[in-house]
Amino acid sequence: MSVFESTMRYFELAADQLGLEAGTRAVLRSARREVQVQIPVRLADGELHVFSGYRVQHNGARGPYKGGMRYHEEVNLDEVRALAALMSWKTAIVGVPFGGAKGGVNCPAGRLGDDELERITRSLIDKIAAVIGPTRDILAPDVNTNAQVMAWMMDEYSKLHGHTPAIVTGKPIALGGSLGRESATGRGVVGCYIEAATAIGLEPDRSRVVIQGFGNVGSWAGRLICDLGCELVGVADVNGAIHSEAGIDPYALLAHMRGGGTLPEFSGPGVEEIGGDEVSSLDCDVFIPAALGGTIHAANADRIRARLVIEGANGPTTPTGDEILRDKGVLVVPDILANAGGVIVSYFEWAQNLQHVGWEEPEVNDRLARILATAYQAVAARAAADRVGMRTAAYAIGIERVLEAALARGYYM
Ligand code: NAD
Repeated sequence: MSVFESTMRYFELAADQLGLEAGTRAVLRSARREVQVQIPVRLADGELHVFSGYRVQHNGARGPYKGGMRYHEEVNLDEVRALAALMSWKTAIVGVPFGGAKGGVNCPAGRLGDDELERITRSLIDKIAAVIGPTRDILAPDVNTNAQVMAWMMDEYSKLHGHTPAIVTGKPIALGGSLGRESATGRGVVGCYIEAATAIGLEPDRSRVVIQGFGNVGSWAGRLICDLGCELVGVADVNGAIHSEAGIDPYALLAHMRGGGTLPEFSGPGVEEIGGDEVSSLDCDVFIPAALGGTIHAANADRIRARLVIEGANGPTTPTGDEILRDKGVLVVPDILANAGGVIVSYFEWAQNLQHVGWEEPEVNDRLARILATAYQAVAARAAADRVGMRTAAYAIGIERVLEAALARGYYM
């Protein structure tokens, strides 16, 4: 099942819970604006390739649209639509004054050089410049886009509109990026671990963790959760997976990968290579999907042995996978709460840029922790009151807040 189909299903479950009428559902299921542009680029192979660039602005009732740009061969309009809607609910759940958007380019980013990525990025910004802006739609990193890509985006937009750091978040610090932004999503995942672990009586020094995806979100979640005293017993990425009963040092793994090694080549105490699919059946307490969507599904959810799943990735669990986990009594912290740390600190970055100030990193991290803990407790309380899972409770809160703002503006009357 696609991320689009999953998120629509989750939306409907929450809409049923809220008793929304058909017309309101139709408005909230669809996007306010969808832009698709052509990106012709001559690549290093000497051939002219044409990629598609997308920007979907789902709902802007609560503030300017906000969301990441994903570069991946499989990016398509339906996926971007789903991820844009998730951003509308996510920003509302954590109470930052943004709407929801998402974008991407269907290019094979992992196989492209910096020069090619830069040309794709500048071409994309030229073509969507009319619909973005620091009070209209603010971009951010996602899969295969990093601080360097954000710098090119800011530079290209600034050529058209003058110096505009607030057009993107996740920038290099030298260009107005926020301290703490790079680690923010992983830090938020670990913040959710702290809240959830307390709720289910799990101690850090008895928590064995498996992480699927070791990019920005997975590697930061891995480092910060091990800093708390948890043990990392399995890690997977696009190249394969490793397992160790003795624990994997996430800092050493990252240093190995930064030195050019692949994840399966990592060696350490008790480390053995396993198949990528095997991570989902490793014996652990906490499972953190931090790669792409749809990785927990009907065929593997019953193999997950964790008591707690924290969705670092967007859309990692299909509705059937979700039901299986619920029947097994697994606590699932949904993506729209678990990975909201990124957009919270993006909001801090945008606010700092607009005021031409820079906060110290402890201030960023403290504010992030407070906002996330408050949001987690609100979702947990709603789940208990409505006798539903954390996901339906989170969607319900997000949808309710978006609707409240839309109705106050006089929309959908
Ligand atoms: P990234 O590109 O830095 O890392 C992605 C990781 O997933 C890499 O380690 C890659 O090897 C791995 N991966 C890809 N295909 C895989 C496969 N088939 N099996 C196992 N691993 C695979 O991306 P990221 O920024 O860390 O984002 C990861 C997820 O988190 C995405 O779903 C993204 O939407 C979500 N997210 C990211 C942020 C952020 O701030 N970066 C914020 C919110 C949500």
